[in-house]
Amino acid sequence: MNLKERQESMTTSNPIAGRDLETLRTAVTGDVFTQGDHGYDEARRPWNLAADERPAVVVMAGSAADVVQAVRFARSRGMRIAPQGTGHGSEPLEPLQDAMLLRTVRMRGVRIDPAVPAARAEAGALWQDVTVPAAEHGLAALAGSSPDVGVTGYTLGGGMGWLARRYGLAANSVTAAEVVTPDGRLRRADADHEPDLLWAVRGGGGSVGVVTALEMRLYPVRELYAGALFFPVQRAAEVVQAWRAWTGTVPDEVTSLSRILRLPPLPEVPERLRGRAFALVEAAYLGDAAAGAELIRPLRRLGPEVDTFAMIPAPALQHLHMDPDQPSPAQGDGAFLADFPAAAIDTLITVAGPDAGTPLASIEVRHLGGALARPAPDGGAQAKIDAKYVLFAGGLAPTPELAAAVRGHAQAVKDALAAWHADYDYYNLEETPAPASAVLPPDSYRRLQKIKASYDPDQAIISAHPVRPVGLLTSAPDAQPALMRSVGEPAALGDRRGAFGERRAGE
Ligand SMILES: Cc1cc2nc3c(=O)[nH]c(=O)nc-3n(C[C@H](O)[C@H](O)[C@H](O)COP(=O)(O)OP(=O)(O)OC[C@H]3O[C@@H](n4cnc5c(N)ncnc54)[C@H](O)[C@@H]3O)c2cc1C
Repeated sequence: MNLKERQESMTTSNPIAGRDLETLRTAVTGDVFTQGDHGYDEARRPWNLAADERPAVVVMAGSAADVVQAVRFARSRGMRIAPQGTGHGSEPLEPLQDAMLLRTVRMRGVRIDPAVPAARAEAGALWQDVTVPAAEHGLAALAGSSPDVGVTGYTLGGGMGWLARRYGLAANSVTAAEVVTPDGRLRRADADHEPDLLWAVRGGGGSVGVVTALEMRLYPVRELYAGALFFPVQRAAEVVQAWRAWTGTVPDEVTSLSRILRLPPLPEVPERLRGRAFALVEAAYLGDAAAGAELIRPLRRLGPEVDTFAMIPAPALQHLHMDPDQPSPAQGDGAFLADFPAAAIDTLITVAGPDAGTPLASIEVRHLGGALARPAPDGGAQAKIDAKYVLFAGGLAPTPELAAAVRGHAQAVKDALAAWHADYDYYNLEETPAPASAVLPPDSYRRLQKIKASYDPDQAIISAHPVRPVGLLTSAPDAQPALMRSVGEPAALGDRRGAFGERRAGE
């Protein structure tokens, strides 16, 4: 059977047939659900409630050993596997009706080693699971704007947070990954082992296996000067132009964004902001209050209506962007911008500014550059980013009609700025179905295709942005495709110790 035939047979057959799930239930400590089971709907429900996947089977894995068993079960029955943590990034996924949804939400163990300093996070950990204990040691992780986004999905797709211009993408701070590859083996990829696998998970998405844990560097950051300036939305053009000019003057210690924010008329929104629209600048400065105040002086001089800048502890950064803190139905889309000159700002204001009738709740442009623009030493699939800014437009989508409207408006904003798009989009903020070739540098995509061919020639792993395997095997996993391995056989782990000291293998 050639590759195309194999793919077709994998996507058109109904591999579950409901018969032998008991084998899997016995093999794992976690839970297994299929359609009709009590608990199936809860198990398949992603954080982004706009996605409505109905997988053939859902496995709530409780451990790496469960992941091994689930992968072997799926592979031995020709079923494809979609790894998922929170489901924040569920929108771009392909239909999963014949697939196994392999959820890691119960695997939230985190260990901090202040001596390195580093963190080890199991695949289901949320960012708040890392940032809070890290802060007890005066350390910060390269978390994103929301405390309940998953460490794994975010990091596999790059991971751009409030320290990005100083320390780069989260993916490039990953020092080791534990991954169950489609042959059902748990492998450790680190500086000395499985270099291609390590490279692929560092920014190339989760296309070559199911990650069970990541290890990453932490940084000595206790406090930052950070906050937001709120201006009435009628001043959006002036504010965004001023912010754009200001970004050309700031050091790498400043990471910032400008956004148009339409707040809902909900009781949890402070009264003076409730139901109103604003132009905002949000920024974080790695330094003290005096230097920070001096840096943001040009923007303060514009006279914001609300000014929240203050010294804050590092974990509080994750509330700066005011992301929803409960599962919500949302739609959105993003794009890297090669640049964001005055004409692009005028265009943005026309399609999303005060006079644009739009259902979009937030249209933001983040400032890149700094460490993001320099090749990370031993970097992964996104070793550097040439784009100077990144756009994201999105909104709440509680009904199909609103979902369509928000999607249409987000696309319209993206299209309007097409003249300034970079050559590819940002992996993590591309929320519509798109191949990995659309969200990675071309060289990286080509290398990833070869690595995919080596580890996952059958395309067993379903990732947010698919990779088509091609080319010769680069670092051939030593095993044959292990479709025939039986469920219940002990996991074949390498015999290694990681930075966190635990036995990796033969345990
Ligand atoms: C409110 C909000 C704020 C955000 N802020 C930022 C931000 O500041 N910076 C930024 O860069 N991005 C940001 N994002 C985007 C976010 O990084 C992506 O949506 C990311 O995919 C979420 O990861 P997750 O693990 O929470 O989601 P999931 O939906 O669980 O995972 C997303 C994808 O990652 C892969 N994956 C997850 N777990 C595994 C695994 N164990 N093994 C293999 N593959 C796996 C799969 O392909 C999966 O489809 C934000 C998103 C939201 C909703």
